[in-house]
Amino acid sequence: MERKFKVTYNESNVQGSVAYVLVKEFDLTPNVLKANITGDGCGFMVLSVSGDEETINKGMARVEECGYNVEPMVNHIHKEEAKCWECGACVAVCPTKSITVDKDFHIIVDYNTCIACGSCVDACSVKALRLVI
Ligand code: SF4
Ligand code: SF4
Repeated sequence: MERKFKVTYNESNVQGSVAYVLVKEFDLTPNVLKANITGDGCGFMVLSVSGDEETINKGMARVEECGYNVEPMVNHIHKEEAKCWECGACVAVCPTKSITVDKDFHIIVDYNTCIACGSCVDACSVKALRLVI
């Protein structure tokens, strides 16, 4: 299985390697989807981690022990239904085809494949979408 996490750094642990811990200690497969490090040494990254569920839980608990803040990412795209006029622009720009439209023309996000890139948010002319990370 694959799960996504927001991992937040501070100036004391920005030099550490989350990926090293997950690969070497737990044989997991991490993939950095997004990284945002600020000038003061703080920041966050969006990480996808592949492996079996129990090992992922242990691996991310170990990352927390190393001083990082770990938040599982679920339902990280918020949509204001009242603003959406179902134009489909977000569907068209999604690089992973994670947004589909149901029979009533409501959009559906597949959080398993979404890489939290934010392209759908940028494409929405009425600002109906928000990336909550
Ligand atoms: S781009 Fe915005 S208005 Fe258009 S379908 Fe997507 S959420 Fe709705
Ligand atoms: S954040 Fe990126 S990958 Fe996720 S649904 Fe929006 S466009 Fe697709």
